[in-house]
Amino acid sequence: MSGADGDHAAPAGSEPSGSSWRDSRNAKSRARLERALPAIFPAPVLRHALARPLLPPTPRLAVESYWRAHILRADRLARALAARSGAPEGWTWRLGTEPGLANTFRLPPSPYREPAHSRGRGHCCICGQPVFRFGWHRDLWGAGTPNKNAAWHSACVTAWKFWCAPAEQVTVLKRHQGHRCRESGKRLFKTAEVDHRVPLYRVWREHREAPWPELLGYWGAPNLQVVNRVVHVAKCGAEAGERAARRRAEAAPPDDPFVVTPAPEA
Ligand SMILES: [Zn+2]
Repeated sequence: MSGADGDHAAPAGSEPSGSSWRDSRNAKSRARLERALPAIFPAPVLRHALARPLLPPTPRLAVESYWRAHILRADRLARALAARSGAPEGWTWRLGTEPGLANTFRLPPSPYREPAHSRGRGHCCICGQPVFRFGWHRDLWGAGTPNKNAAWHSACVTAWKFWCAPAEQVTVLKRHQGHRCRESGKRLFKTAEVDHRVPLYRVWREHREAPWPELLGYWGAPNLQVVNRVVHVAKCGAEAGERAARRRAEAAPPDDPFVVTPAPEA
């Protein structure tokens, strides 16, 4: 084993330690990876893989590991690929229980997961673009045709997980905004929380007709911010109040003089 890991190798004859276990595992992983590695492979992915404390043993795992470490890049790429596809003709954002539809506006709309608009095997169900070896988004290998066994890009899966659960990436987002609260400008505390600047219920209510690739931006970094907890609680409270007031207003048709507006819930 060469490289930085060699510095931690246990002296010969000593008890097996954590690092010698890791060294032998990494040696095996490296051998497996090198055997499976094609002549052409994305250089940044390989560099990233070889620098992992635990080496990914297959090219596909190396690609996954790369995107997991570059969440915001995956988010940008997935949205750029979706923009290349555009929305399918006649598609609108709907909620429901039919295949491919989400039953909540909290999940990003995904037209290419709907059977009517699916582009078939070899195309990504998230962005609609062709998928190549190892879930890569570009045909580095000059295959000319997509990989028929693949149904998504590795980058798009990473982006999808991020869009559905952005709070899990609070550390990445904190770093991205220089550890400053986007609302108050103060330093972010440990308890800071991830917030959608435009809340998703308003995306559904007010921006539903926006073009689909643009819609995805409401789930991605452009609409995410980390704010201190106290700021977040106040913002959520104001949003809940606004929704309740709107529900009450909608419940009472303005032209009916006999309708009594119900008192707010205690
Ligand atoms: Zn994709």
